This record gives sequence, C-alpha cells and structure tokens, in this order.
Amino acid sequence: MIQLKNAEQISAMKRAGRITAEALVLAGEAVKPGITTKHLDDIICHHIEKSGARPSFLGYGGFPGSACISVNDQVIHGIPSKNVVLQEGDIVKVDTGAFIGGYHGDSARTFAVGNISAEAKRLIQVTEESFWQGLQKIEIGARLGDVGAAIEGHVKENGYAVVRKYVGHGIGRNLHESPDVPNYGTPGRGLRLASGMTLAIEPMVCTGTGEVRELSDGWTVVTNDGGLSAHYENTIALTENGIIVLTKV
Ligand code: MG
Ligand code: MG
Repeated sequence: MIQLKNAEQISAMKRAGRITAEALVLAGEAVKPGITTKHLDDIICHHIEKSGARPSFLGYGGFPGSACISVNDQVIHGIPSKNVVLQEGDIVKVDTGAFIGGYHGDSARTFAVGNISAEAKRLIQVTEESFWQGLQKIEIGARLGDVGAAIEGHVKENGYAVVRKYVGHGIGRNLHESPDVPNYGTPGRGLRLASGMTLAIEPMVCTGTGEVRELSDGWTVVTNDGGLSAHYENTIALTENGIIVLTKV
C-alpha cells in the first residue's frame, strides 16, 4: 500500500533529507586518492549521529555500514572497507540515508577520484541529467511510466544503459516502501502519481549492457561486463504546490 504523507510528515522528511544531503556533501569533499571507503563511511556516520539522527542503512538487512560505497564497475551496495583505497581515476558511488523523527532520507552521488577519464565524466553527467529528466515528468496525475521512460530515454540517447534489476522506491517511515520506481517504462502506463507521494528516484547507469550480478559477499552488485557504473538519487515529495527535492542541501 502506498502511504501518502501530509504536510507535517513531509516537513519531518525534510529534516531527514537535509541531514542525508549534508553527509553526502562532507563525503564528497573528502574523496581523494589514498583514502579508504571506510573513512568515507566514518565521516557519514559521524555527521548523521552528530545531527541526532541514525544511519538508515546501518544494520538494514544486516548491512555493516552507514553508506553503500561502490567503486567503478560496482553499481550499488558496496561494503565500506579499510582495505578499499581509492585510486586516481576511480569513480565512487556513495549512497546513504538518515532516520530522524520517524522518517528516512535516501540519496546517492557519484564522485570523481582525482582526474578521471572523459568517458567517466560523461557517464556521471548523463546519470545526473537522467534524474532531472525523470523529475520533470513528475506531477499529479502523471504516470510512473512517464518518469521511467524519460530517464531511460536520456540514458539511451547517450549510448548508455540503465540497470533494470534494481529500482527506486517509495520512502517514509520505512526506507523502502511501495511503489517501485523503475528507471524504465512506457509513457502513459503505470501507477498514477498523487499528492503526498514521497519517492526515492535513483537512476543507475552503465557504459555496457546494464546487466548486473551480486558478488559472493552477499551485497556488492557489479556490472556483468565490467563496464563503469554511476548512480544519482534524491528523495522527493510530490505536493499540491509542486515537487520538493528533500535531499538537497
Ligand atoms: Mg539510496
Ligand atoms: Mg534508494
């Protein structure tokens, strides 16, 4: 069942979203060659806890970090580790959330480690653009298929592929709620959008086929073909007065 939020609940979600966004900014500022993904996770955990919130991901399904941190061909759900040292030219996806006042935020960014290739830069840019293309389709009465089609359309136009196996989601009192929000779809089809919906929209985009698999650690999802992957996510609210992006500083 989709849980629609009233103005008061959305304002509680703003708080969770802001802390999530701030944590990602701090992580992004710390990204450089030579630091470990555990170090980034520590920065995020510290900020979230200092803000009076709890890291949404820590212990979620047994996940051992406050953020999912995924490098290069790792798409999502990478486990922060003191053995993973970022190298010049890597791209690193940091995905995190904060829980406060009964509500979650969820957001992801892809950061460049030092100088990266032109292709990696373009992948990161197209991934972010595809999020905003999808967002443009969000309005009361529109369909989820309009959103997914806009995201995938922009990705395909640029020669990349979206991951179909993992999707965005509703969010609120739970980190993952109904509905699923796929990064593909058919215009005019799918769920009709209504005021009070709060959604995590999160294109995962790859240079190769977009086919993915999970590693034997039970978490890390990688591209099958070794292609690079980027991720961009915000939690948004649809209201009578328009869209609010909840995970922007
Ligand atoms: Mg996320
Ligand atoms: Mg999410």
